Amino acid sequence: MSKKINYQVLHKHSSYSTTELASLLKVSRHTVHYWVNNCGLKPINPNDHGWIFDGEVMKSFLKAKLKRFKVKLKDDELYCLSCRIGRRGIEESIDLEYTGKKVGANYVDQINIHGVCVTCGHKCRRLTTSNRIGEFLKHYPGYTK
Ligand SMILES: [Zn+2]
Repeated sequence: MSKKINYQVLHKHSSYSTTELASLLKVSRHTVHYWVNNCGLKPINPNDHGWIFDGEVMKSFLKAKLKRFKVKLKDDELYCLSCRIGRRGIEESIDLEYTGKKVGANYVDQINIHGVCVTCGHKCRRLTTSNRIGEFLKHYPGYTK
């Protein structure tokens, strides 16, 4: 289970104890230990009893970690909240919701695509824009709404 960690709360010129990190990032101390033991996170003083972490190291560690979890979707895929990867949606389930927001340099309409995962039957979704929606719908020729 990966949840969103807001590393913006850390300052690169500060250093943090395990407890401070856990409280700032809203994770358990166990999670911080896990990062050190399994994910290659390095404390400033790895041999001491109470670890101290450098803010800048921490930020780049978390940034890289988030990037690794970012799922690249193919043109016809939605992100399935249950499978946690890109999946095709069941054609009849595809629904477009205009969020009312304008995004990007060209100020285009933002669209939230909703659907049902072909594999597990759970909800999946994708954020796109009015100038890219055609690319997606091309893969769903039966879409008529
Ligand atoms: Zn699924």
